[in-house]
Amino acid sequence: MRGLLDRRSVRDLLPGLRSPAAASTAVTVALVGLAGWLTVLLPAGRTLLPGPGGAGLVAAVVLLAAALLAADLTPVDVSVRQRPCSVSLVALPLVPGLLYLPPEWVIAARIASTLAVLVVRRPTLVTAVRTGATSLLGVTLVASLLHWAVLPGDLLTGWTALGTYVALVVVEVLMTAVALLLPRTVVTVGAVGTGRPRGADTLLTAVVTVTGAVAVSTSIGLLGVVLFEDGPLGRGLLALVVGGVAVSWRAHLVLRRRYDDQRRVQAVVDVSTQHEGGDVLAAELLGGLRELVRGETARLVWRSRDGETQLHTSTHDPARMLDAPVMPPAGTAGLVPARTPDPQLQDWLRRTGAREALVVDLERFGGNGLVVVTDHLEGGGSQFTEEDVRLADALAAHLVVRLRNTDLVDRLRWEATHDTLTGLPNRRVLLSTIELFLGSVGDRAARAVQSETAVLVMVVDRLGEVIDALGHDVGDQVLCEVARRLVSLALPGATVVRLSGEHFAVAVPVVGSGGVAGLAAQLRSATADPVALADAVISVGARVGIATTADGDVQDAAELLRRADAALAAARSDGREVLVYAHSMDSGRSERLALLGDLHRALAEEALQVHYQPKLDLAAGRVTGVEALVRWDHPVLGPIDPNVFVPLAESAGLVDRLTDIVLTAALGRARAWQDEGLDLVMAVNLSVRSLDDAGLSDRVAGALRRAGVLPERLVLEITETSLMSEVSRTLPVLHRLADMGVGLSLDDFGTGYSSLAYLQRLPVSELKVDQAFVTALEDPTAPGSVALVEGILGLASALGLSVVAEGVESARAMSVLRQLGCRHVQGFLVSRPVTAAALPGVVRAIDADPAWSGSVPAPRERPVAAAMLP
Ligand code: C2E
Ligand code: CA
Ligand code: CA
Repeated sequence: MRGLLDRRSVRDLLPGLRSPAAASTAVTVALVGLAGWLTVLLPAGRTLLPGPGGAGLVAAVVLLAAALLAADLTPVDVSVRQRPCSVSLVALPLVPGLLYLPPEWVIAARIASTLAVLVVRRPTLVTAVRTGATSLLGVTLVASLLHWAVLPGDLLTGWTALGTYVALVVVEVLMTAVALLLPRTVVTVGAVGTGRPRGADTLLTAVVTVTGAVAVSTSIGLLGVVLFEDGPLGRGLLALVVGGVAVSWRAHLVLRRRYDDQRRVQAVVDVSTQHEGGDVLAAELLGGLRELVRGETARLVWRSRDGETQLHTSTHDPARMLDAPVMPPAGTAGLVPARTPDPQLQDWLRRTGAREALVVDLERFGGNGLVVVTDHLEGGGSQFTEEDVRLADALAAHLVVRLRNTDLVDRLRWEATHDTLTGLPNRRVLLSTIELFLGSVGDRAARAVQSETAVLVMVVDRLGEVIDALGHDVGDQVLCEVARRLVSLALPGATVVRLSGEHFAVAVPVVGSGGVAGLAAQLRSATADPVALADAVISVGARVGIATTADGDVQDAAELLRRADAALAAARSDGREVLVYAHSMDSGRSERLALLGDLHRALAEEALQVHYQPKLDLAAGRVTGVEALVRWDHPVLGPIDPNVFVPLAESAGLVDRLTDIVLTAALGRARAWQDEGLDLVMAVNLSVRSLDDAGLSDRVAGALRRAGVLPERLVLEITETSLMSEVSRTLPVLHRLADMGVGLSLDDFGTGYSSLAYLQRLPVSELKVDQAFVTALEDPTAPGSVALVEGILGLASALGLSVVAEGVESARAMSVLRQLGCRHVQGFLVSRPVTAAALPGVVRAIDADPAWSGSVPAPRERPVAAAMLP
């Protein structure tokens, strides 16, 4: 059935008419022709029931036209198969019209009402013509059917009622089909009912819907006629029913309007959900609101959570954009009509240049701000209504929610690009700013010649000491002050960022006449002034690394920043304040990378060796332990210093592997020597990175078990500096090792900052006095060093720790150490580190050498340092 009625089949039915437009025009003309012909055939002036005449007739026709118009304009929403459809109840007034009035007058009333609907709805011309045609044909058909089937009578008979009923239903179904054939027929105007009900998408739904609507409205219409015919009592009842219907109709209309409002608000909201940024969103919603209430100008004053006030304006005619004051007197909300009695509001309207206004206080919806819409667009007498206020409210509520969310989004975005402590932008911003300075890839070479972009990376010196002494709070305050000073330098076009910790960077698009040295001097002098805090004055310094595009070979922002970093690193290691990047600073880098590759291989192939250096017990006069020291004989470069490749392994995450190799080799040796009768405590160096691995103690236990060595025969050496910097994190691992029975030794002791309190907390059993202090003992004019070593020995004995002096090279140092009561020594004087094969011989020789025997006095009561002064 449906197939028969779609547009293509119309063309098939009328093969001569090729285009759909021509086909439907032909159908339209045919409809009008048919309607005209039927009208001519109708018995003019004849009514089916006795009706009014003269002035009464005219009044009844006008009333009928008005009723038909009202029915057309206010369709009723129904639900058909769970889909909302709207139908109009035209049949209701049509029934009495058809019965009491001559058919030509009914047709005239219908034509008049249809024209009025078209004027109100303003459809396109094609749609209007088709709608008019179907409407006209519909009413003529019903009238014709009725007048052929039913003869005039004095009373409403069952036959007349049935005839009316059947005629209306049949015509309605017929016209629904025609409306579907002519797709652009205005849906709210049908023949007698609805034409095509809005929302019904299949012919079946449409027919069911309109049949139902016509049946109901015809029945009610007939009921009304019956009551009317019944005399005064019936007419009274009729009046009551009409009144009741009118009241419920009003209620329906109110609900419907609300629903429409919601739909319109939703439409604006839907469009706005595509926008993310706060500004665009506000503009979009404000524009939507202005159009919704047909205002000339809408303004939004929005205070975000940061306390920032933004003003958005949307106007119908941008040429008439006014910089008028927005804020109305406090407490203003709702309509401000053109002739408001309030003098304050009158004054405000005058100053705003508005006739009338509509104000929404966003506080009602939890926001902070106002929406002000001025002047209804239809001009002249037309004004904002309470309905407009409701619409504005609904949209404003939504606006508040959305803007508050975007506030949050903006905040998150800010946090992703800024340092929260100083409020400066971060590294990401720096990189994109430099990219901007560098310009697009294409004209980079050209730009580099024209202007020189520079990046200065700066580190705040001595901040670590400040934090150690005074805490992180003070450190933070110093950083904020430095940030403030860098910004207040106001270098032209510069971007100041905090990179991390105590690192700042400044990017300048064009280096001025002072050159980069001038810039660096400005940065340094900004940090040099002491920082005065509430209860301390702190002075820090700064080092600066600089890279510029002067060479013309910088490809991107990351490269420029990397060069500045390299310059800073070079400045630090050379003890310089300011250094400009030079390519030579990179040479070390590529070598390091090549070396790292080789180290990877050496570790995989276990191509590393371990040498051993004896630790001499002066009291016993023999070697009681050895320290395992890793050796790497590079196939091309020869022996590499462990001070070079061990940190390299640390930085590349290879150090666990290195530790395992050394540990296994050393413990294997310890076991073998023990079997030979050489009982030596084995010392193995640990990198602090190894302590990051919670499984370290298990790995050590495994190695001990495999080698068959008791934990007491192993000492792990950890440098003091590295341990102190991460003591809280490493403490649990240290305790686990100590609990196993493994000895722990604090290597390079004296170079770090361990306080007595820390030493007590650490489960260490040995201190190794750093070589620097031992070497200093060789110089008799430097008594300070003697006092220092003496102090360390006193401290160690108080804490029950044993002390090893390392790097003992001279007999002079050895004799001072003996006098100070240092029991263990290690150094070239005793023995250099030797291969595993050579070690037993070396140890036996030392043990046999009487030069090393002899007792060591216990630490003295009276400081030796004083006695040694010349
Ligand atoms: P360290 O633990 O302080 O080792 C002592 C270093 O001083 C060794 O250097 C040793 O050869 C050297 N030395 C010993 N006696 C004297 C002396 O009388 N005079 C002088 N000038 N030097 C002496 P080496 O073997 O070059 O090791 C350097 C550093 O590399 C070690 O310092 C240690 O921190 C690290 N290292 C060595 N082997 C390993 C290892 O297996 N694992 C880890 N993680 N680090 C290791
Ligand atoms: Ca060591
Ligand atoms: Ca050492």
